[in-house]
Amino acid sequence: MKNVIVTGGAGYIGSHACKALRDAGYVPITFDNLSTGWQEAVKFGPFEQGDLLDRARLDDVFAKYKPIAVMHFAAFSQVGESMTDPGKYWRNNVFGSLQLIEAAVDAGCLNFVFSSTCATFGDQDNVVLNEESPQFPINSYGASKRAIEDILANFEQSHNLKSVVFRYFNVAGCDPDGEVGEFHQPETHLIPLMLDAIAGKRDALTIYGTDYDTPDGTCIRDYVHVCDLVDAHVLGLEWLSNNKGSRYFNLGTGTGFSVREVLDESRAVTNKEVPHVEGPRRPGDCTKLVSGSERAMTELGWSPQRSTMKEMIKDAWHWHQTGHYDK
Ligand code: UDP
Repeated sequence: MKNVIVTGGAGYIGSHACKALRDAGYVPITFDNLSTGWQEAVKFGPFEQGDLLDRARLDDVFAKYKPIAVMHFAAFSQVGESMTDPGKYWRNNVFGSLQLIEAAVDAGCLNFVFSSTCATFGDQDNVVLNEESPQFPINSYGASKRAIEDILANFEQSHNLKSVVFRYFNVAGCDPDGEVGEFHQPETHLIPLMLDAIAGKRDALTIYGTDYDTPDGTCIRDYVHVCDLVDAHVLGLEWLSNNKGSRYFNLGTGTGFSVREVLDESRAVTNKEVPHVEGPRRPGDCTKLVSGSERAMTELGWSPQRSTMKEMIKDAWHWHQTGHYDK
């Protein structure tokens, strides 16, 4: 059995990763405390409810499944919240990851795929980032993920832990089959909020800042379809299985969209106006985060298939109309 522990497997990206793993012949074991995830999203392998801060529970799960690898998604990920409650990010993201890493090495599981973020780079206006770009996070979320990258590097030196680290840009879209989707409570992400506003499920979307140094004054982000993103993770696992060693990969498309451009594209896909108002900047937001992904393409053979803005909004809109988790 090719068991893989997937922390955060009940969440948005983790649940899509479990489906991709199942389809590639692995058994994804979801380890999730359901603080932000949904048990209904665990459909593709066993579920073990547990918290990263509970070391004994982690040890039990490693002993029970003897996994060949860990895929670590579980984390708090709201930039704004990380600025007002940094302790939550350092405790859960950093200390929780340390517990997981120690449990993995103690169980002899030395392959680790980690979900990091472009927020580790911080604000570097008007550059297209790559894996060698300097990392100067400007929010606690990015700083917490950066710290975990360092822990992984240290544990490679001490325990030969091999890791593939993916730094994501913005993740969007949903499983086109509608089996799993994006549903956060509370929701803070641009595309689901925008679709809710279109559908009249919440008030007008607030554009966070219109005075950035960008062509239309709103922030620019690089959006990747969640299905393409999780495909890269399966390739990362194969990379580790083939003993190719630790590696960092940025997962972007090289193309940025401003908030206003995302709104325009949504109008085009849904044929509906997006009710919106202009508001002040959100603390912690970078002006522009865009990356190429040449390394992932050439070394992993990653080939994104669905990462056009149109496709991402289409799949998100389909899920928005047909799928949801109850609680
Ligand atoms: N954004 C916005 N209004 C919202 C939510 C997000 O204008 O209600 C903007 C946000 O400032 C950022 C972009 O949309 O420029 C993407 O934000 P999101 O929270 O989706 O992802 P993040 O970039 O924080 O990971």
